[in-house]
Amino acid sequence: MSFQVGEKIYEGKAKVIFNVQNQPDLVYQEFKDSLTAFNGEKKGGFKSKGHLNRDITSIIFQRLSQKGVPNHWIENQGDTGMITKRVKIIPIEVVVRNIAAGSLAKRLGWEEGRKLSLPIMEFYYKNDNLGDPIINEDHIRILGLATDETLSEIRRMAKIINGELTQLFGACGLDLVDFKLEFGRTKNGEIILADEVSPDTCRLWDKTTKEKLDKDRFRRDLGNIEEAYRKVHERVELAVKKGANS
Ligand code: UDP
Repeated sequence: MSFQVGEKIYEGKAKVIFNVQNQPDLVYQEFKDSLTAFNGEKKGGFKSKGHLNRDITSIIFQRLSQKGVPNHWIENQGDTGMITKRVKIIPIEVVVRNIAAGSLAKRLGWEEGRKLSLPIMEFYYKNDNLGDPIINEDHIRILGLATDETLSEIRRMAKIINGELTQLFGACGLDLVDFKLEFGRTKNGEIILADEVSPDTCRLWDKTTKEKLDKDRFRRDLGNIEEAYRKVHERVELAVKKGANS
């Protein structure tokens, strides 16, 4: 379908959101080439990042739709854009972890790479001024961020997504260490997966070499960032073509 991009609504760190003319229930999302870390303090980027993350996200979101996980993806536009359903983002970042890394390893003094005996789900309050603090279900209730019913729906979906993504990345020779999800509510009140799933929002380690193929290459100045994102893109594309995990 042909859509006309309207005026800009919002610019975030990784994406710019626009209206779509005559389509009040849709928005256009442009994936940026910039990379930020540590709540925007560290800045960088590379030329094809927007394209790679758009592609990886769209492949994964289509896969998740096939597996019955509702999400905002409608269709890709150009090299770096996608049309999505318009949602009101629930201001909770949902992190699911299979292997200890990053802030979890630091907080509990655990060695990075420690396999968790069961996945851990964490919630962070999506609030840049506060630096996205970790919160639990009681904080969520008091802050009024989501009802218990909404939260249990989010938990249910995040668990299914972890299973599907672990399988898909597994077929790519990648360990899904941890990842962050955002959910939104449509006009009809449906809770759906929104935002993106990409090397910006997931930790992905090569199963054999343990090489980090995600944003930690940028956060930790490991170099070869673009090469890592390209590898993930290539492998995910190939795995889906081969029908891995179907
Ligand atoms: N994450 C994200 N956006 C954030 C914070 C975390 O996408 O604002 C992702 C991050 O890439 C990793 C997972 O969530 O895959 C867990 O991140 P962690 O809490 O370890 O924080 P970090 O070490 O990234 O500060």
